[in-house]
Amino acid sequence: MPAVLWFRRDLRLADNPALLAAVAQARADGDGRVVPLFALDPVLWANAGAVRQAALVASMRSLGASLGGNLLIAHGAPAEVVPRVAAAAGARSVHCAADFGPYGQRRDATVEEALTALGVTLERTGSPYAVAPGRVMKADQTPYRVFTPFYRAWLAHGWRAPADECPRDVDWWMPIACDGYPTAPELVGTLLPPMGEQSALARWDSFREHRVAEYGEHRNRADLDGTTLLSASLKWGEVHPRTLLSDLDDSEGAEVLRKEIAWREFYADVLLHHPSSVNSSLDSRFEQMAVDEGAVADERFAAWCEGRTGYPFVDAGMRQLIAEGWMHNRVRMVVASFLIKDLHLPWWRGAQWFMKHLRDGDLASNTHGWQWTAGCGTDASPYYRVFNPVTQGLRFDPNGDYARRYIPELRHLAGSAAHEPWTVIDGFSQGYPARVVDHAEEREESLRRLAALPPRQ
Ligand SMILES: Cc1cc2nc3c(=O)[nH]c(=O)nc-3n(C[C@H](O)[C@H](O)[C@H](O)COP(=O)(O)OP(=O)(O)OC[C@H]3O[C@@H](n4cnc5c(N)ncnc54)[C@H](O)[C@@H]3O)c2cc1C
Repeated sequence: MPAVLWFRRDLRLADNPALLAAVAQARADGDGRVVPLFALDPVLWANAGAVRQAALVASMRSLGASLGGNLLIAHGAPAEVVPRVAAAAGARSVHCAADFGPYGQRRDATVEEALTALGVTLERTGSPYAVAPGRVMKADQTPYRVFTPFYRAWLAHGWRAPADECPRDVDWWMPIACDGYPTAPELVGTLLPPMGEQSALARWDSFREHRVAEYGEHRNRADLDGTTLLSASLKWGEVHPRTLLSDLDDSEGAEVLRKEIAWREFYADVLLHHPSSVNSSLDSRFEQMAVDEGAVADERFAAWCEGRTGYPFVDAGMRQLIAEGWMHNRVRMVVASFLIKDLHLPWWRGAQWFMKHLRDGDLASNTHGWQWTAGCGTDASPYYRVFNPVTQGLRFDPNGDYARRYIPELRHLAGSAAHEPWTVIDGFSQGYPARVVDHAEEREESLRRLAALPPRQ
């Protein structure tokens, strides 16, 4: 009997335990044919913005090419599509990597129920993490709430070596007609980097050879190409984190990078234990935080989304998000802080906007990146730490190159003046907007609202 391999967040052939399990099962069942399936879930598709959709289609196309054009794309709800394909193939097992997100777990439970009714099993092998969420627990078997002790326990737990190569002679097979790739929106003026497993591995090879050594020093600089740029590849599983970890030694830069990869694992663990944190603050006192509503608040939100707050570091980041579906981590922290502490808007409004547009949009990292900045999450930065959008720009984009790259109205300003256009006589002559709020005043307002919260228990 053939087996079905259901691709979701693992769009690669290398280091893919679910793929190996599907091949082994099909061969053990005396058939050898494997159906590589991608179910295009209309819920996930509709929630994605243009760049995010385009990135997914590019990644699917790359996987399809690696499979010799045999990726079976079926449009529809997975609970309908997956059993239909399994039945058409005459398979008795469907293989996938385990999903630990709230939506993925619900979806998989529904699919499993429908498959069971057909006498087909859903086999989960591996996960998108080096250590599956839920594995690393405190001695008293409760989950960690703080990163550093989690990190130590995660290191002590360790992870497997990368899985074996994908066999060369797999008999990929499509038992029904393929619905074809979804139509990706046409992107105007967007710089979408190449997607797919081969590009991700090439990026990683080049990064570890030339840039890991300086990662600790450069990773906060928005103007430099100092980070891996692999977040979207990790999100879609074009590369497994285990593959990256296996290449990291004990050098200083490698240590820092290992720790960043561990944040992704930590947040997945936090989300598994607190699925409701997608919509509510982990520190429940913050549910009582006074936030702005109404027409002025909505106009300010629109200015933030469109990159016209009048603060160049914020605006460059928000314009980069729309144009490329990506933003540097330092800038993510600054724009998030601005939304929450300068505009007094609820963190989840920003988190939703990010999820729509980020091509690396990952529910766990995004939700808890926002909650960290808002001071209401696990291991949060103290709420009273309010980023100053101007000094952050001057520090992490010292020559103004990043600001000028995304804000044409500032291209006539030399050097760091791009972060303080109001200090230049004709700074506004190119149509760059005036500041939507005064940072110093809003910082005080933000601290007043914090002081009104009930004390921490
Ligand atoms: C408000 C906010 C929202 C965020 N939303 C997302 C998101 O939706 N998806 C996402 O992948 N990351 C998110 N991050 C984390 C981080 O900004 C990105 O992972 C990083 O910028 C990706 O660039 P890179 O691949 O070059 O990272 P690198 O610096 O090269 O790091 C390597 C990998 O480590 C992981 N990583 C690094 N920093 C973090 C972090 N702070 N939290 C979790 N994982 C991390 C990522 O998988 C990243 O690809 C968010 C951060 C903030 C502050």
